[in-house]
Amino acid sequence: PPSSGLESLVGWELALLFPFRNSNTHKGRYGRVLILGGSVGFTGAPVMAAQAAHRIGSGLVNVGVPQEVYPLVAAKAPSESMVFPYDDPKLFETVVSKATVVAMGPGFGLERKSEIFFKTLMSLDLPLVIDADCLTLLARNPDFFQLIRKWAVLTPHPGEMKRLLRMEFSPEERIQVASNFVKDKKITLVLKGVRTVVAQEGKDVFFNTTGNPGLSTGGSGDSLLGIIAGLIAQGLEPFDAACSGVWIHGKAADIAAEKRRTKEGLLPLDVVENIGAALEQM
Ligand code: AMP
Ligand code: MG
Repeated sequence: PPSSGLESLVGWELALLFPFRNSNTHKGRYGRVLILGGSVGFTGAPVMAAQAAHRIGSGLVNVGVPQEVYPLVAAKAPSESMVFPYDDPKLFETVVSKATVVAMGPGFGLERKSEIFFKTLMSLDLPLVIDADCLTLLARNPDFFQLIRKWAVLTPHPGEMKRLLRMEFSPEERIQVASNFVKDKKITLVLKGVRTVVAQEGKDVFFNTTGNPGLSTGGSGDSLLGIIAGLIAQGLEPFDAACSGVWIHGKAADIAAEKRRTKEGLLPLDVVENIGAALEQM
């Protein structure tokens, strides 16, 4: 059926979906996130996604980056992350075969070799979360939508959305734009901004009420990517992970702004450090 209503994301409703743990458990139950990105000049982006993936509760986190930045990213990444050079085909095969979900795009690069790699990623039989440079590569190659096997969550900001649509739109048109775009596609769309919109064919369109202008800074989107991927790794359906991830990310930013007594000076790491507090309030 076509999307019917418009709904607001509500914390306690989302809490019913969250995999809160009892004591008799182990890391194998919480999935393995594979983050792919990074390039010269963009070594922090995949690291911020990894920090968020850890703090939302992923069982394991792998970070694949090109060889040329591998030593640097390995040194910068959380000690808990397993960083590897993705241009080693055997290593890549091994890691991908164990992954639960692939998050791609932060600092990924737009050159020909990135585009070829992106095409192989699009045809993986795994849930995908696609952001940043990978959205630009997808906008260049709309035929890649047909490669999606399992499901993909796309997380464009309005600029990336305009590239995907090849058309301008106003903030008032966001809901219409989002619900039109998801038609006949195996995707969940997270159209970011003030009052982020989440849309998927056959579902109500949801908008978010958490978050603040402290998120208007480089790296905010990377941490959202890690949160959504980490929720999928823990077994949430992509649509539920997108809705919960957006709410938690904004709530963590609201708590961080209050604790730090600043919106202007907020860092993505401040947001990530308050994911726990956001979950408590959910
Ligand atoms: P990106 O542009 O990819 O770094 O993503 C920015 C993230 O911060 C998205 O999740 C946005 O929804 C969020 N964000 C940015 N500015 C605001 C704002 N003024 N109010 C609420 N959320 C925001
Ligand atoms: Mg971004």
